[in-house]
Amino acid sequence: MLPPPTPTGSAAAKRRTRRDAAVRAAVAQGLLDEVDSPVAAFVDLAGIGDSAHALRTAWPPELDVLHAFAAKANPLVPVLAQLRAHGLGCEVSSPGEFAQARAAGFLPEQLVLDSPVKTLAELSTALGDAIAVNIDNFEELERVDRLIGTATADVTAQRIGIRLNPQVGLGSIAAMSTAGRTTKFGIALADPGNRERLLDAYRDRPWLRWVHVHVGSQGVPLDLNAAGVAAAVDFAREVNKQRPGQVVGIDIGGGLHVDFTDDNDSPTFADHVSVLRREVPELFDGSFRIVTEYGRALMARNGFVATRVEYTKTSGGRRIALTHAGAQISARTAFAPDLWPLRVLAYDADGSPSRAEPEVQDVGGPCCFAGDLLAQERLLPRLSAGDLVVVPDTGAYAFSAPFHYNSLPMPPVHGFELARNGAVRFTVLRAAESIDEVVARSGGTVAR
Ligand SMILES: *Cc1c(COP(=O)(O)O)cnc(C)c1O
Repeated sequence: MLPPPTPTGSAAAKRRTRRDAAVRAAVAQGLLDEVDSPVAAFVDLAGIGDSAHALRTAWPPELDVLHAFAAKANPLVPVLAQLRAHGLGCEVSSPGEFAQARAAGFLPEQLVLDSPVKTLAELSTALGDAIAVNIDNFEELERVDRLIGTATADVTAQRIGIRLNPQVGLGSIAAMSTAGRTTKFGIALADPGNRERLLDAYRDRPWLRWVHVHVGSQGVPLDLNAAGVAAAVDFAREVNKQRPGQVVGIDIGGGLHVDFTDDNDSPTFADHVSVLRREVPELFDGSFRIVTEYGRALMARNGFVATRVEYTKTSGGRRIALTHAGAQISARTAFAPDLWPLRVLAYDADGSPSRAEPEVQDVGGPCCFAGDLLAQERLLPRLSAGDLVVVPDTGAYAFSAPFHYNSLPMPPVHGFELARNGAVRFTVLRAAESIDEVVARSGGTVAR
């Protein structure tokens, strides 16, 4: 009889295998030194390739799609450069992200500017460089009018759109939902008079050729996302009924949910496409170019943080492991642990998965407030001083969105790859922030 198929073929299982190899090798190569480097972050470079491939193949090849990675999810320049090498574009929402994307080598035609509060300088640079721009509100539209009035180039060839708020409702995390009735983003489509005002705006401006929508991020179900995309497509078709061919593209935003309690990719990019195909078939009829702006779903699984347990103690009967990873790694988890759970994995001091007896424990970080915990009352192999705690699924919005509380330095970020013989090769993606740099960013270089 044939043995049952083993799960080692799944993307999640392969990721686990690579992670375990990386943890072991990081210890052996001194990257998790108890004294010099008690916390470090790691990026799975092969995983980035797999995620980019899964995204690109989920969309029908006959469509013209630009997958613009939302830079805020992981703005490390070498990571952005990897994503570019895998055929992605980049969505930027601030002058800093714009500069990071340019440093990563993206060309203007691969970039989309979505800053919710664009300065005059940001807008004129973007328009001058022919970067796609999504306008957030009527006042910004007037500002673009004035800039375009002075432009010499043909602006109808540029990718300029308006971000609509389809007001389809909130997902399970209000702060991550961008299509509520009173949400701050975009122009509220269903507010009295706005649809007519928008139709007039497109009629008067032949250079408005795109429509943008982003329903939200974590916690937004696929059908809610699709309802928002449907509203954008419906609006674009209404414009085109009056002036055929004016709207050439739909930017559908991002927001694919990641399940942080598990390591299986669900929903997948293919799940998202199939719901969109069912709910918004017009998006796929070839009459529109498409931009997507996925962030979290592309990168969360491809990073982890590892930290040494410095001490353990018992308090009120609770066992607590004190580590160097806390709110500075994931402020969201520390402040809203129920909305932003993270898995925590126990490894021995040498980097092999722990086989200690499970026990209910808290895992605390280095910040001076009581909520600085990445896990509370979690059943985990009993942790001891010198052991390692690994926090998976932190490749998006975690180690690249630092919280400067207590002046903790940003940890180093190492990319890793496995050779055929199993050897792990690390490359520095971001050097550890030094204490001198912490002082410098605290006004330490200002003359006194
Ligand atoms: C944050 C954001 C995204 C990406 O959201 P994810 O949940 O990371 O996929 C895309 N578009 C816009 C406009 C955003 O603000």
